[in-house]
Amino acid sequence: MGDDSRSERVILHCDMDAFYASVEQQDRPELRGRPVLVGGHRRRGVVCACSYEARPFGVRSGMAMAKALQLCPQAAVLPVRMERYRQVSEAVFALFRQFTDRLEPLSIDEAFLDVTACRRLLGDGETIGATLRRLVRERTGLAVSVGVADNKLLAKLASAAAKPDGMRVLAGDEVETFLLPLPVERIWGVGPKTAEALHRIGVHRVAEARSLSRRQLRSMFGVQGERLYDLLRGIDNRPVQPPPERKSLGAEETFVSDLDDRRELERQLLRLAEKVCRRARLQKLAGRGATLKVRLADFSTRTRSVTFTSPVNAVPELMAWAGAALPDIEPQRPVRLLGLYLNDLTPESQLDLFGERERLRRLDEARDRIWRRFGEKGLTRASLLGLDGSVQRRQDGFEDGE
Ligand SMILES: [Mg+2]
Repeated sequence: MGDDSRSERVILHCDMDAFYASVEQQDRPELRGRPVLVGGHRRRGVVCACSYEARPFGVRSGMAMAKALQLCPQAAVLPVRMERYRQVSEAVFALFRQFTDRLEPLSIDEAFLDVTACRRLLGDGETIGATLRRLVRERTGLAVSVGVADNKLLAKLASAAAKPDGMRVLAGDEVETFLLPLPVERIWGVGPKTAEALHRIGVHRVAEARSLSRRQLRSMFGVQGERLYDLLRGIDNRPVQPPPERKSLGAEETFVSDLDDRRELERQLLRLAEKVCRRARLQKLAGRGATLKVRLADFSTRTRSVTFTSPVNAVPELMAWAGAALPDIEPQRPVRLLGLYLNDLTPESQLDLFGERERLRRLDEARDRIWRRFGEKGLTRASLLGLDGSVQRRQDGFEDGE
């Protein structure tokens, strides 16, 4: 160790356990404790995720579904519900953000958190990790494994060692004991090619790779070899890097057959507003502005934008503007595509939290809770009740801003 700048940091690597499969088991209690394979088609599909109950049978993600079912015929096979996983992911990341803004997402269910600055308030890395695990469990019912260390490499290795549903702290003398027997390919940054080159010269474990000098590694792998020299010793100074701030978020919908009915259009607009506001609130964001987009049957596209007097993330306020803007820009129906965006996003804490605005927001939040609990069918705003199967939705994509 002995690198002071490094030993000052506290990094958490948080990784949800069997994420897609766990969300399915959470949403459908009858699947809990059972082997679950997410990936759709029984004969042609690929396993995108499998629950821990399926793993003793040798099932792994990436395996052909047909093979997985040979190994574990009693498994439940479910389609991938990406939008649902994204919603749960946003809720989980919102919980992560209660600990720190210095958060770097690695995937939909995995992130680094630099909690160095939270220690005085929340305790040491282990205490923070335990609190976070409990919070995620309480709020979502899901398990997150946590690795705690003073850098990203070790934190990621630690969370993998902690799975399932565990926490591992890697510090002090433990680091060496942990690293030395590891296969070299476990070191984050050692890809298949690098691993193969090392295997060719008889190097399989970290302990063996340690016998290679910095110069030898440099001659084998160039600049990457120098970094590898450090990584093999558990040294990793890479900072936790939050992604660039999101400028806007929105939802759009393309209709299979062009929409001609004004009431139906308004219902679809309301659906989009519900979706956009929910996403904004889950991330504790609000829009200083909004944009409405309409594409007509002849593929011409019209947009209207607005700047609000104070940031908006509640459906009634967004609809007050969008509902009026809609007839303004689609005098010639039919409509092919409808899109609604919140722009110029800002943290929700800057909202005016009093009076009518707060009441509206609480109403929306209550609906969010129902929605999280029962899924979209639980949403029963009166004007949505009339929504029948007559409007087929071909596409229901989110745009993640510019
Ligand atoms: Mg995971």
